[in-house]
Amino acid sequence: MRSHLLNDTTTERYRASVTEGVERVAARIATTSRPFTGVTADTLSPRVEAVDLDTPLHDTVAALDELDELYLRDAVYFHHPRHLAHLNCPVVIPAVLGEAVLSAVNSSLDTWDRSAGGTLIERRLIDWTTERVGLGPAADGVFTSGGTQSNLQALLLAREEARTDSPARLRVLVSEAGHLSVQKAAKTLGLGQDAVVVIPTDRDKRMQIVALARELARLDEQGLVPMAVVATAGTTDFGSIDPLPQIADLCARYGTWMHVDAAYGGGLLASRTRRHLLDGIEHADSVTVDHHKSFFQPVSSSALLVRDAAALRHATYHAADLDPRRAAQERVPDQVDKSLQTSRRFDALKLWMTLRVMGADALGDLFDEVCALATRGFDLIGADPRFAVMAEPQLSTLVFCYIPEAICDPAAIDRANLYARKALFASGDAVVAGTKVGERQFLKFTLLNPETSAADIAAVLDLIAGHAEQYLGENLDRAC
Ligand SMILES: *Cc1c(COP(=O)(O)O)cnc(C)c1O
Repeated sequence: MRSHLLNDTTTERYRASVTEGVERVAARIATTSRPFTGVTADTLSPRVEAVDLDTPLHDTVAALDELDELYLRDAVYFHHPRHLAHLNCPVVIPAVLGEAVLSAVNSSLDTWDRSAGGTLIERRLIDWTTERVGLGPAADGVFTSGGTQSNLQALLLAREEARTDSPARLRVLVSEAGHLSVQKAAKTLGLGQDAVVVIPTDRDKRMQIVALARELARLDEQGLVPMAVVATAGTTDFGSIDPLPQIADLCARYGTWMHVDAAYGGGLLASRTRRHLLDGIEHADSVTVDHHKSFFQPVSSSALLVRDAAALRHATYHAADLDPRRAAQERVPDQVDKSLQTSRRFDALKLWMTLRVMGADALGDLFDEVCALATRGFDLIGADPRFAVMAEPQLSTLVFCYIPEAICDPAAIDRANLYARKALFASGDAVVAGTKVGERQFLKFTLLNPETSAADIAAVLDLIAGHAEQYLGENLDRAC
């Protein structure tokens, strides 16, 4: 079946096949009236199981028909204005085009001889980003598959830079609103169980500087080594941005690596009105940016940036078949010695096409729009006696809960909120997220879609209240 290989003899098939796929997706997106159909795994699973993978259809149209049944019809659609749930964005068309190009050419960004211009494009984008962060002339970085991986690599570099012979003494400090990938990275790096020191947050869900200073002093007294402070620029739940300048001061005082996890808040780098919220990020030793969160790029696209290019050597291993040492001597621009991955997607092309077609301002404007929408939503929820909202948004999330009129026991209120979220998901009318704050159950809007309006938010609040009221009505005896 050589005719399925993409080469000079099959370009017509390539065109027809990809166009057919694009048509299907376009038709779905044009007619999707809800973010989700509410399909359950129990319904879909037998259909997927029933496919005989050893009996091909030998027909693109038939395979797409089948895919429509199994996936496209019931997928969760982030472009829909009532998808308010996760840090997954609607995507911009130039980035989708980039995705199609990069997979067809199939460059791999480990070495120059697998990518050529792709490597140079990635390097330009790294420079473009480090310049926007303000990391200085020695900065460098590399694209990764996501924020989790960027954070892992940052902490690997920090560990290697930490001056100690006793790994058991290493500590990483992060706020209680920081991302779970920090804990995961500590575990992957073989740090001890107590390696992650969690710093409390203030009312606005920002790391408490007094508490950070106290912990650093305590570690110092106990002979422990604070190998990194992870400041979060845009916490996943609250969008809160830790006080970066004060954290930088403390890191300088203790000689600690400052990592800024801007997986979510990184979109502010393109903002014309909110860039100042990231002030202090220029002091970081390393920064995580997730383009697939706030740059409206398809998954996956992320970058790890470092102040000092030399720090990336900790990700280098000189194997005979790749031999970056010889490459370095011959000044061949190989990226593999900067990355934890070997074969690596040319994800940078998506951002490149986005910047070349739309420009950074247009991208930043989109993120600004959802941040402004969050403020509208905050006012809406604040004025609604059926709800209580946790914190004023710094970016584009809102954490809130439904509170019934009658005085109820807190556990019943928690159950009503949980029920409302699940019932909403099952209806497919809207998708909202949930989170726990302390022991209590909350609901969360993560607004990343500029097409979402204040009217959408108001309508979804009505839907939530309706489901919660129904739950409490049916369970009144037990609930209140
Ligand atoms: C989403 C997120 C991550 C993880 O990023 P992935 O791309 O999902 O791996 C890390 N940190 C923060 C603050 C995030 O919001």
